[in-house]
Amino acid sequence: MAPPDTPENIKRRASKEKINEIDNLLTVAVRVRPMNNRELSCSSIYDTIAVNQDKNELTVKGCLGLIHSFQYDHIFYSASPENCNFANQKDVFFTLGKPMIDNAFKGYNACLFAYGQTGSGKSYSMMGENCNIDDESANSDLQAGIIPRFCYDLFKRILQLPHTSCATVEISYFEIYNEKIYDLLAAPAPALDRRTPLKVREHPAWGPYVVNLTPHAVKSYTEIKDLLYIGNKYRATAATVINEKSSRSHSIVSIELSVCEIDSDGDDSGRRSKISLVDLAGSERVGNNSSNEDRHREGVSINQSLLTLGKVISSLADCKKGGGFIPYRESILTWLLRVSLIQLELSCLI
Ligand code: ADP
Ligand code: MG
Repeated sequence: MAPPDTPENIKRRASKEKINEIDNLLTVAVRVRPMNNRELSCSSIYDTIAVNQDKNELTVKGCLGLIHSFQYDHIFYSASPENCNFANQKDVFFTLGKPMIDNAFKGYNACLFAYGQTGSGKSYSMMGENCNIDDESANSDLQAGIIPRFCYDLFKRILQLPHTSCATVEISYFEIYNEKIYDLLAAPAPALDRRTPLKVREHPAWGPYVVNLTPHAVKSYTEIKDLLYIGNKYRATAATVINEKSSRSHSIVSIELSVCEIDSDGDDSGRRSKISLVDLAGSERVGNNSSNEDRHREGVSINQSLLTLGKVISSLADCKKGGGFIPYRESILTWLLRVSLIQLELSCLI
């Protein structure tokens, strides 16, 4: 298979036509989850959020009756199934995940982030409550989130490739806690009290990568499902053992798709894309004046990392207007994901 492009090569070859192949370079969506018991017991907040689907506008009633309106590319109203605009897990995947699969087959990298406070529904949207998508009928399983659906559809698409094409898929799953990286799929899994953080190095051509992160070559959705199950379980147990909440870490499922095509002359060409599906740490303000040193350190790392992510995304969104420096290196998350965000950077060059 022809070697895939390095980030620098991609940049050099960037052309308007190629970038225009991607439908939406940056998409921002919001999801309204059902109220929990605590919220339901407080009737004064029932009408806090209103959605105008025609204008893609969400209105929030703040303190003192102040109204704040926000516009998004998509609003998923999942608060009550009786509502005619109700969006289920499949709808969310269809709008946000499916276009990423289309772009992955064209050879583009992409990132999807779930951002919000703890309890706002990030993990439910990204992973869902189970990953059991075993056949076409079960695909309507309401509980599976974007990640399992993405993986399921990826293999469905691979099976539809012409016989002159072949594809390989590699998956890794890791978390970033206190600016340190832990493999969730290391084999054998290290004892939880002795797991050591992995280092990040920078390859001169390929950019930053995690040293010794285990890539798993997978051949079917079932293989991915088993790995997700192991990673989720390890993450939850690790969180309990070190007395951390899993919402204090960012978790990243990274999928590399390589597609090779052989033309009628027998020449082959390769495309590779890297997709990062990220369940971010809770965005609530955590213990700036916390008496517990560990909690304080966690809070500082999370704030720093989310702040940097915000800065990177706004610099990328603004760069067409002549913005310059993109502070990828200010956090491990953005530094590592640079390669998945590169399409946005390319759009600034044309
Ligand atoms: P986060 O990951 O942001 O901390 P979770 O995804 O764990 O939040 O969601 C908190 C709770 O709300 C969970 O019990 C989850 O099942 C429930 N929940 C979140 N979003 C939805 C939704 N769209 N529909 C039904 N339940 C949801
Ligand atoms: Mg969560």
